[in-house]
Amino acid sequence: PCTDFDMAYFHSYAHLGIHQEMIKDRVRTETYREAIMQHQSFIAGKVVVDVGCGTGILAIFCAQAGAKRVYAVDASDIALQANEVVKANNLSDVIVVLHGRVEDVEIDEEVDVIISEWMGYMLLYESMLGSVITARDRWLKPGGLILPSNATLYMAPVTHSDRYSESVDFWRNVYGIDMSAMLSLAKQCAFEEPSVETITGENILTWPHVVKYIDCYSVTIPELETVTTGFKFNSMMRAPLHGFAFWFDVEFNGPAIPTSDYHSSTSFTENHLVNGSQRKKRTNPSEALVLSTAPEDPPTHWQQTLIYFYDPIELEQDQAIEGLVTLTQSKENARFMNIHLEYTSGGRSHVKESVMR
Ligand code: SAH
Repeated sequence: PCTDFDMAYFHSYAHLGIHQEMIKDRVRTETYREAIMQHQSFIAGKVVVDVGCGTGILAIFCAQAGAKRVYAVDASDIALQANEVVKANNLSDVIVVLHGRVEDVEIDEEVDVIISEWMGYMLLYESMLGSVITARDRWLKPGGLILPSNATLYMAPVTHSDRYSESVDFWRNVYGIDMSAMLSLAKQCAFEEPSVETITGENILTWPHVVKYIDCYSVTIPELETVTTGFKFNSMMRAPLHGFAFWFDVEFNGPAIPTSDYHSSTSFTENHLVNGSQRKKRTNPSEALVLSTAPEDPPTHWQQTLIYFYDPIELEQDQAIEGLVTLTQSKENARFMNIHLEYTSGGRSHVKESVMR
């Protein structure tokens, strides 16, 4: 059923600003376009569904790649504009815009390809992946292609003294006045909720831990309701530990069951490198394109998601930090995400609960 929360969610996508932000994210949009062109020989002459088409940009890329028909589905009123864009580009004979939820609209044939840009902050926020799963189970032919094919959510311990000081230490001396009485409120206000911001590789204290690996061909909706993992890090340096960063990447591999008519082409990739991100645009045909939101890679509109502690932990080099993280869809609103974090270091244990809303 479509809840009031869904209505508010789809309403938020009727504003053009959010679509402009996504389209302007060249790492995102150009990697999708390259992936479509890399799989062009599979897509040509086939039927595609674009789950959450927004302005229609990915549907149009698929039409440009030679798709026979593209069903471009969006429940937001942006679908009305997408339909105008399709008409103005003389693509109405290829692209069928369906204004409704993928859970509700009808498509009278099976599809060969599902494309979707479903990733939220911290990968799973907004929980739109469930709608891609629904589309897959309703319409995808065996041996069909899903783009992206798989996703990985990572976490790593972070040091970020500047960020901590500007929010907390600021109150120690305000125009010569001691406002330390604000400290605990300042910590709560700044760090109660997850924070979406861009950090760099220098903020990361050691190799990341995989929180969740998702194979888009086989993942199920119940599997996404709760994601939980234990972790253990050993800090590579002596530094204050301020919290954990989360980020993700997605890959654009070929179909689950290779079919005889499947050929991947790399020529487009070689000629259209996104500035500065060559490292991720692998030209080896056996390797998939990667869209990465890691701190060491070119920034995207997803940035990274930080969960800060109220008080830093002074780590020695090699000191262990271990614990558990659980991500759960909120009962209050399935689009929200509860984050339960337990961590122990230097013999002291802590628990931090936060909600991403
Ligand atoms: N594909 C576009 C837009 C991505 S944003 C692009 O790449 O630029 C995600 C879009 O999915 C939003 O417009 C949102 O309204 C839509 N969406 C999310 N869940 C949906 C669902 N269950 N059914 C239909 N559309 C959905």
